[in-house]
Amino acid sequence: MAKVVDGKEIARQMNDKVGNSIREIRALVQIPPRLVSVMVGRSEDAEIYINMQRKTAESVGIEFSVDRIDDGITQEDLIAHIEKLNSDSAVTAIIVQKPLPGKIDHDKIVAGINPEKDAEGIHPANLGRILRREADIVPCTPGAVMKILKAHEVDLYGKEVVIVGHSAIVGKPLSLMMLNEMATTTVCHIGTFETGNLPGHIRKADILVVAVGKPGIIKGDWIGEGAVVIDVGINKVGDTVVGDVDFSEASKKAALITPVPGGVGPVTVSILMRNVSRAYSIQNKKGV
Ligand code: NAP
Repeated sequence: MAKVVDGKEIARQMNDKVGNSIREIRALVQIPPRLVSVMVGRSEDAEIYINMQRKTAESVGIEFSVDRIDDGITQEDLIAHIEKLNSDSAVTAIIVQKPLPGKIDHDKIVAGINPEKDAEGIHPANLGRILRREADIVPCTPGAVMKILKAHEVDLYGKEVVIVGHSAIVGKPLSLMMLNEMATTTVCHIGTFETGNLPGHIRKADILVVAVGKPGIIKGDWIGEGAVVIDVGINKVGDTVVGDVDFSEASKKAALITPVPGGVGPVTVSILMRNVSRAYSIQNKKGV
């Protein structure tokens, strides 16, 4: 049976370190770190994330506030709001909550954030830095996957890594981060699935990461004996939350597996806080 990753414990240890780094910088500078969450309109799911972010931020010494904006705002006015936050020295990090109203292009809003205040690590400049192995502020979920592998001393050198899902914030940047660690990386997507090639790729994986958003799409008997399985998916099914992997069957084959909830999710929030800490450090020109 697979060992089950304790994402909450990894997150707790990371938060301790982030809290220490923040205290060290705070002792030397006037302005505390402040994360501003920009929320347009209303969303129950986003409120859950905001509460989680607030709790974790405050526990590590980051001030947290929410700018609540009416959903009638135009894209231009939202960009102008972001620009105001960029030029406010009391704001050290910015996160724009999803979902945004349909008429607003999330990518354009993120591109308006000062890359040094980009809490989620998804500004094009920060994504681009991954190519050159020089990213300090990294996209949160790929960062969490790398952290979990590191915490479990999973060596990536020469390993077959299969990533399912190629979104710009999870699958694609993660594939580059894996490549930077000298893994042999395969990225699968809807085309792989529709041509029936997905199970074949997954069977070869030493390390499998799934970020699709479809409950149980990855069957247990596709998993290779002794594989590491990281399930990023979050899917509401009735009153429960499940991942993309058939957890009970996959656990019989894998050596290490993340649960949903309690796996990648809590570590993702900690990477967000580490990004805020690194942004604070960069802005104060101190090494952390
Ligand atoms: P996304 O933008 O919807 O991307 C999903 C990806 O899956 C796309 O690349 C899509 O390919 C691919 N895909 C769809 N159906 C597929 C299939 N049948 N076979 C293979 N690939 C398929 O979603 P995302 O933002 O990357 O998030 C993915 C999941 O992770 C969601 O459940 C989300 O809630 C979760 N998530 C969790 C965390 C966390 O902290 N744990 C953070 C972020 C996201 P095409 O575009 O080609 O269709």
